[in-house]
Amino acid sequence: MKKLLLFMTLAIFILPVLMGLSSRMREEDLKAANPLDAKNCKITYLECESNNIKECELEEYLVGVLAAEMPAEYEMEALKAQAVAARSYIVSRLGEENPQHPGAVVCDNANHCKAHFDEDEAKSHWKKEKAKGYWEKIKNAVDETKGEYMVCEEQVVEAFFFARSSGRTENSEDVWGEKRPYLKSVESAEDKTHPEFESSAQFSHRNARRILSALNPKIKTGDKPLEIGNITRTTGGSVATVEIDGEVFRGTDMRRVFGLKSANFLINTNSKTLAFTVFGYGHGVGMSQFGANCMAGNGEKYTEILSHYYTNIQIIRL
Ligand SMILES: [Zn+2]
Repeated sequence: MKKLLLFMTLAIFILPVLMGLSSRMREEDLKAANPLDAKNCKITYLECESNNIKECELEEYLVGVLAAEMPAEYEMEALKAQAVAARSYIVSRLGEENPQHPGAVVCDNANHCKAHFDEDEAKSHWKKEKAKGYWEKIKNAVDETKGEYMVCEEQVVEAFFFARSSGRTENSEDVWGEKRPYLKSVESAEDKTHPEFESSAQFSHRNARRILSALNPKIKTGDKPLEIGNITRTTGGSVATVEIDGEVFRGTDMRRVFGLKSANFLINTNSKTLAFTVFGYGHGVGMSQFGANCMAGNGEKYTEILSHYYTNIQIIRL
């Protein structure tokens, strides 16, 4: 009886206190782990063209990232999702020395970090009559999500994103070999409605042989038609591996060397050419920007968009 009483006391009074404490501690730990001081939200960035390292407020920098990375005509909720994703990406980079640009947290090379436009540069990319409104709209998307970023399992989410999928996104390990609990393959069916969902590329066998032999010298150069063998696919539907003339190539390498829009492709050969039909645009990991825009158009909020594309995340505020 005494034991039962003791257990009930524990259950009713002490456990909730301990549980509250542990969730508070998690919050404290997260804040401590976050190297960005809330009072000094400044970041350093390398402007690749001028090779200058500059410093500015994180929120101000984000406006320029959004202007460069997402079409400004996209829905407000999609732009807000993009703002939180880009902020998470930058916060995840803080406190890390990047060997490619020591002294700067990020650079404005889209293939390495995130593209970035200053106000004049952004406006020069938009129609004159739209430019002022677009800049204001993007500023509002950043402002309305001020300080918000994503965490998963107490880590800041390295929030990758890309233009549009082939109908599903990709597991990070299938593209880069590294598994992340929040970068899982999810459905993004509305990407198939994009007017440029499908693209194509053609190469003569001579050209294709030259390109492939640089990847693997066992591929002989010349005019002989290449022989396509077994193709394996990822969960997201992209080419994982493809056998060509008996040699195995990774889909991601094929995308890179042939300059394809994505690694989700079909290959057709005839006596003269090797032809690719390609679906979607981008690496396929994380949020599909066009998919996000479709979700926003269907009335979903930026938080729902983010929770769809990034598995098991929480949004917290600096
Ligand atoms: Zn960089």
